[in-house]
Amino acid sequence: MLVLEDVHVYYGAIHALKGISLQVNQGEIVTLIGSNGAGKSTSLKTISGLLRPKQGKISFNGEDLSKIPPQKIVAKGISQVPEGRRIFANMTVSENLDMGAYLRKDKSGIKQDVERVFELFPRLKERKSQVAGTLSGGEQQMLAMGRALMSRPQLLLLDEPSMGLAPILVKQIFTIIQEINAQGTTILLVEQNAHMALSIANRAYVLETGKIALGGQAQDLAASEDVRKAYLGG
Ligand code: ATP
Repeated sequence: MLVLEDVHVYYGAIHALKGISLQVNQGEIVTLIGSNGAGKSTSLKTISGLLRPKQGKISFNGEDLSKIPPQKIVAKGISQVPEGRRIFANMTVSENLDMGAYLRKDKSGIKQDVERVFELFPRLKERKSQVAGTLSGGEQQMLAMGRALMSRPQLLLLDEPSMGLAPILVKQIFTIIQEINAQGTTILLVEQNAHMALSIANRAYVLETGKIALGGQAQDLAASEDVRKAYLGG
């Protein structure tokens, strides 16, 4: 479904991605783990078109994404939940969800999808008229995910959904990620919480200073001595 081949990305003189190759197949949950500054967010921003590779190739369902603007990439079926959520703080929960569907014109489909989001996140339904900036951190994460789902993505890119959340909420969010996947959405998940990410993923890649250091079945990586030492606390 998604293929990156030898992707290089720079911020000015900083060489942030140094030839990344990875693949996400339809139906999978794939996770990209690695320490601070390894290039995880940069990888997602490059896939969603916010950053452009200087070298290398990105294709989605066989189509080259490298010259397609971000909003067209959304229309092709890729939606990103950015790090730090970036919800519209002054709008209500419902208005935020509507914004996620801004490229769509099928009113009845949109209505159905709002209901689907409310089924996944009953909390949001209770708070649909609340101004989003007053939601808790966990609720904002739910809203950011709900908003991303409103474009009916084939591939959902999640950037550190567990960031800043209490352990019980992290568990809840990860359960919902599995549910979204079970309903047919392919997922690429960036996480610093390697333990949780590996526990729900099919496959995983370890990113170290802009390069893929390891890749394989998530359960094999979770069992690997090197990964345990570096990312799972021994
Ligand atoms: P984190 O979990 O801390 O967000 P990450 O793995 O997502 O880490 P990136 O944010 O992708 O890492 O950063 C990769 C590298 O690119 C880092 O060295 C970072 O300092 C650098 N970088 C990121 N954004 C910019 C920017 N806007 N300008 C310059 N350098 C940047």
